[in-house]
Amino acid sequence: MIKSIIKSKVVGVDISIHRTTYAIVDIRGNILAEDYFNTSDYPDVNNFMARLCESIYEMVEANGGYESIRSVGISSPSANGKTGCIVNAANLPWKGVIPLAAMLRDRLGLAVGLANDAHISALGEYVYGVAHGMKDFIVISLGVGVGSCFFSDGKEHHGYEGYAGEIGHCLVLSNGRQCGCGKRGCLEAYVGAKGVVLTAQELMQESNEPSLMRQEANLTPLAIYEMCEQGDKLAIETYRRTGEMLGIGLANYASIINPQAIILTGGISHAGHWLTDSAEESFNENIFQNMRGHVQLMVSKLNDRERDVLGASVLAWEQPEYSLFK
Ligand SMILES: [Zn+2]
Repeated sequence: MIKSIIKSKVVGVDISIHRTTYAIVDIRGNILAEDYFNTSDYPDVNNFMARLCESIYEMVEANGGYESIRSVGISSPSANGKTGCIVNAANLPWKGVIPLAAMLRDRLGLAVGLANDAHISALGEYVYGVAHGMKDFIVISLGVGVGSCFFSDGKEHHGYEGYAGEIGHCLVLSNGRQCGCGKRGCLEAYVGAKGVVLTAQELMQESNEPSLMRQEANLTPLAIYEMCEQGDKLAIETYRRTGEMLGIGLANYASIINPQAIILTGGISHAGHWLTDSAEESFNENIFQNMRGHVQLMVSKLNDRERDVLGASVLAWEQPEYSLFK
């Protein structure tokens, strides 16, 4: 009898500021099991690593065992796919350079791939989402930060040192708002979560227009979106202005890359047409004329959590197999 070991599953991990989600995904993209713990409960990265390994072991044992797992893919903010390190993460508890992929590989004895969240979103869209079948496209993650990844001729572009796609820190307004990165006028300062709230605050100061926003002590992009749905004029104007800035950034990006489509993902993209109507208008106004009307602006149809876990699983399949015993 020929004994064959079929490694038919991978583990996908999504690390974010609040939660670390981990899942077992089969070769068809079915999520067989999924769970999470709070990232912020582990300010020491060694304790985080111990918890992650323990959680993965338990889930793997309950779902076909270690022998059936081929590899692991991880999504994280500030991850460098080329080095497998998390580098100076502003939105995670661990400072400095963390060689996360190597740490996990040595503990689990499995191949581990690491990539930043924007890159993972693009992989998820490419294999399971609206970018399926496209060769040239851009995926933009609109959340606390603004990240992106683009595919050119069917391949993701990393850049010389792995930092390609930093659209969040491209200039959209000379001498504009202060950005967290130290520069002024970056796209992220206008369309990141803090930027949306700042626009709302500026609008409230500019006029005496009554608004539900004035009664909200802790404004969030989600709360502002809900106020748009209730017809609040200043909330609607907040997203209109956000979309206008987004359109300028995307027009510059598209003019260089010439994509078939730009796919918007992440929390801010859930504002839907309140954001995309003005974004599309300003996008088409500012894009290079020969591309005008030829680049589709789309919103992702996958939910954020599902896309990140599935995207991490795609990265896992891309890794060459690894064993401690070879
Ligand atoms: Zn910046």
